[in-house]
Amino acid sequence: MSDINQVLRQTLGEIDFDPVALKAKYRHERDRRLRSDGNDQYVEVKGDFSNYVDDPYVDQQARAPVFDEVEVAIIGGGFGGLLMGGRLREAGFEDIRVIEQAGDFGGTWYWNRYPGAMCDVESYCYLPLLEELNYVPKHKYSFAPEIMAHSQNIARHYKLYDNALLQTRVTSIAWDDTAEKWIIETDRGDRMKARFVTMANGPLSRPKLPGIPGIETFKGHTFHTSRWDYAYTGGDSTGNLHGLADKRVGIIGTGATAVQCIPHLGASAAQLYVFQRTPSSVDVRNNRETDPEWAGSLEPGWQYRRMENFNILVSGGDQEEDLVADGWTDIFRNLTGIAAKTASRKLGRRLTSAEKEALMEMADFQKMNSVRARAEALVKEEATAEMLKPWYRQFCKRPCFHDEYLPTFNRPNVELIDTAGRGVERITERGVVVDGREIELDCLIFATGFEVGTSYTRRAGYDVIGQGGQTLSEKWRDGLRTLHGLQTQGFPNCFFLGFTQTAVTVNVPQSLNEQARHVTYILGELKARGATTIQTLAEGEAGWVAEMESKARMGEEFRVECTPGYYNNEGQAGNPNSFFTFAYGAGPIRFFEILAEWRANGRLEGCAIR
Ligand code: NDP
Repeated sequence: MSDINQVLRQTLGEIDFDPVALKAKYRHERDRRLRSDGNDQYVEVKGDFSNYVDDPYVDQQARAPVFDEVEVAIIGGGFGGLLMGGRLREAGFEDIRVIEQAGDFGGTWYWNRYPGAMCDVESYCYLPLLEELNYVPKHKYSFAPEIMAHSQNIARHYKLYDNALLQTRVTSIAWDDTAEKWIIETDRGDRMKARFVTMANGPLSRPKLPGIPGIETFKGHTFHTSRWDYAYTGGDSTGNLHGLADKRVGIIGTGATAVQCIPHLGASAAQLYVFQRTPSSVDVRNNRETDPEWAGSLEPGWQYRRMENFNILVSGGDQEEDLVADGWTDIFRNLTGIAAKTASRKLGRRLTSAEKEALMEMADFQKMNSVRARAEALVKEEATAEMLKPWYRQFCKRPCFHDEYLPTFNRPNVELIDTAGRGVERITERGVVVDGREIELDCLIFATGFEVGTSYTRRAGYDVIGQGGQTLSEKWRDGLRTLHGLQTQGFPNCFFLGFTQTAVTVNVPQSLNEQARHVTYILGELKARGATTIQTLAEGEAGWVAEMESKARMGEEFRVECTPGYYNNEGQAGNPNSFFTFAYGAGPIRFFEILAEWRANGRLEGCAIR
């Protein structure tokens, strides 16, 4: 027996499956999903499809255009914009304006109101600014309405409604070299100036549709999950979709969104057809109400400590205590450096890198075996259970957690239409065709996700014109170039929040918070030093680009082996806009340290101020 097998046996116990056969099965499942059009398989939601992004939640309010000036304009009223606005207010900035396309604050939680919408990252870590607002969420995993209400409370708390422009879509932002200010234009005829602009557009904010032949011909009712049409379905985010009681409903997509809304569709529709291309990995949810005694016992600083504890554990680090102790920390405990450390303690020596890799792979196989066994245990019909089993490694796609999704397929009115990895064949006037079978529908819902891997400016919906007339789309055509992901040369006084060469965290708001604090520090320093502009220098930007490249995210090899999805640019390597090329490879903990060190030395390295 080789050393590796010994290590595996000693740390993971008896291996009761054939890993070689399993690996071959994964590869087979990936191969039959690979397609030459990659990301081009999706349709941009514009032109004939633009009604898919209309706001179904509020009517457009008339207002006169504005032609004034503010000190800081924040584009986006989601978590990024709220954190940016909140941190600036705390630092004494008064003249702030949030510009937001939606009818209110909340970002992704404004748009995604589909039944069952909830966050599957623990609420006590995920909801921003809990201590600042003296609020403890009602459940371990919050439902969408509570998160939207909290967003609006943040906006009220920090007076971000004052001077905000809601229902306003930015159409262009241009630098005026003489005035040294940004000129912002919108679809409401506004033309305002801003000394500073911070963009918080969100990484997954632009819905996309599948380019299925015939999609434009469907005569029934149709919408995207991020614009749920309650006027048609009836009910609300808790379900009770009484409008569907006599309807044949189809849903395309089985990602994280579909997993949450399908149980409600199954409970309400006369007949539900779920069109599946790749099953999600769906593990135990185990939500629970917040214990008031625990909430009352929280000491100041509790939220930051909890976020840190979670972030360290899900970045592969060690912590004495696992405060969150959920599906996420469990996965990372099994599949990262923590597992290797436990193994080396058991063996009394360090593991070689080959041993580490074999250990992670085998632990991953075991974990996914348990996810597949869960489908078998919860779904009565064997053939359906079989189709619901995911055949890929855990992080090829976003893991899902839900307790009602799989049992929904036991309902007599719910049918899983598996497309054997090929996707829906055709859409007709009457319904959806799979494998030559036409399924007639009254309503077709697209749970097909959001643009990832397209250019930043296309996803933002506007271009930015910097110094010398250079556009951001030109500048970033071959990939992002930034300093710390937050600034880019030629675009003074402009900051980007989100996943633009920053750190990707499981708990996204934590990264946004660190970025907002950093930008607030910069603006505060400018004020303290009597400066009005900050410009990234060529060497500052080149330094960060080189640092990004030197730490090019390990895991590229892992993702090539994965079934297609937005994590691996739909199975095609080499796209400069793909999801993980934006992530700092050394991870969030190191990234936050770099920002803190940069602030601590006070030299504003890589930038020039005036
Ligand atoms: P996804 O991109 O994850 O899923 C899209 C789905 O559409 C996939 O199942 C995809 O199949 C399917 N699809 C696409 N084209 C076709 C086709 N031609 N025929 C059949 N099926 C097709 O979008 P979601 O909205 O589900 O989730 C997006 C992200 O939003 C998540 O990854 C997560 O980050 C976030 N989210 C977070 C939640 C939370 O709890 N915090 C809840 C919901 C979403 P295939 O897999 O084969 O590509």
